[in-house]
Amino acid sequence: MSPTASRPGLDYHQSHYFISASTLAQCPAPEQAREVAFVGRSNAGKSSAINVLAGQTRLARTSKTPGRTQLMNFFEIIPHRYLVDLPGFGYAKVPDAVKVQWQKQLERYLQERESLQGLVLLMDIRHPCKDFDLMVMDWAQPSRMPLHVLLTKADKLTYGAARSALLGVQKQLAVYGGSVSVQLFSSLKREGVDELRLKLDEWLVGDA
Ligand code: GDP
Repeated sequence: MSPTASRPGLDYHQSHYFISASTLAQCPAPEQAREVAFVGRSNAGKSSAINVLAGQTRLARTSKTPGRTQLMNFFEIIPHRYLVDLPGFGYAKVPDAVKVQWQKQLERYLQERESLQGLVLLMDIRHPCKDFDLMVMDWAQPSRMPLHVLLTKADKLTYGAARSALLGVQKQLAVYGGSVSVQLFSSLKREGVDELRLKLDEWLVGDA
C-alpha cells in the first residue's frame, strides 16, 4: 500500500475563502502552513476546476470580484492547509507597469514561498503550452517545484484526440524531469477530479 493510500485524504468540500494577498508579506504565516497554488491563463477553466474540486458553485468567484483579480486568493481547507488561486492576468485591462509589478510578485511567490508544496497549472486542452504557461514553468523550475498540469475542457475533444493531446504535452514537459505530471480534466463532466484530489493529498496531507 502506498503511503498516501494509508492516510485519509482531505475533504476539499470544506474549503472556504480565507484571505487575499497582493504581496508575500500579506500571505498567511508559512511556518505551520502547507498550500497548493492554481495558476492558468484567463479562461483556462481555473475557477470552474476549483469549484468542482470544492463541490461549490461560487467559491472561486471571489477571484473574479473586481479588485481581487490581481491578488493571491487563499482558500482554507482545514486550519493551515490552503488552496491558493493565483491570477492569470490574461485579459486583465491593467497598465503594463502594473502587469510587470504583478509578475514580479507572482515570480517571488513561486520561488520563495516556503509553504508551497506544488503547483497546479491549468491549460485549455485545445491551446496548451502558451507563453504564459512556459513562463510559469520556468519560474517553478529553479526551485524544483512539483508541477501538476490539468488539461482542461477535455470534453471538447473526442476521447482519441484528448489522449493524443495528453501524450503530446507529456512529451513536451519531459524536459522538466520527474516532478511533472499531466492529466485530463473536465469540470463540465466532472472528469479527473479524483486524480486531482489524490495529487493534492500527496502534497498537503502530513505534517508541515
Ligand atoms: P478561468 O478564467 O480560468 O477561471 O475560467 P472559467 O472557469 O471561468 O471558465 C472559462 C469558460 O470556460 C467558462 O465559459 C466555462 O463555462 C468554460 N469551461 C470551464 N471548464 C469547462 C469544461 O470542463 N468544459 C467546458 N466545455 N467548458 C468549460
